[in-house]
Amino acid sequence: MVGKIRHIGKEDSKAKYSRYKRLVNSGIFRDKKTTQKVIDCKGDFISWTNKQAKEWMMARVKELNDDRDIDISCDCCTTTDENILDKVTNQNCFATEIIEIIRALSIENSIN
Ligand SMILES: [Zn+2]
Repeated sequence: MVGKIRHIGKEDSKAKYSRYKRLVNSGIFRDKKTTQKVIDCKGDFISWTNKQAKEWMMARVKELNDDRDIDISCDCCTTTDENILDKVTNQNCFATEIIEIIRALSIENSIN
């Protein structure tokens, strides 16, 4: 079984049984923000050379494949709640891209 992974904003609360992970602690971004990636985390995941960031990603993959649910919080969007009309989201947020990479790696790893 594979868990679920979703993106939440900084004012969203995590789901009760989900693991709460903040992108600012992933090592993927510059300056404790989530707007600019570090240079060695650009392009396809296979070409990333940042050890800390790669380990953070693979830890999330393992959690997903262990059937854990994960809420990934970025620090650039206020909320991802579709029901909030005046929600503030960063159009250039990397969370969706990062979640897609984790999902793809999870599928790859569950096959192998
Ligand atoms: Zn964001």
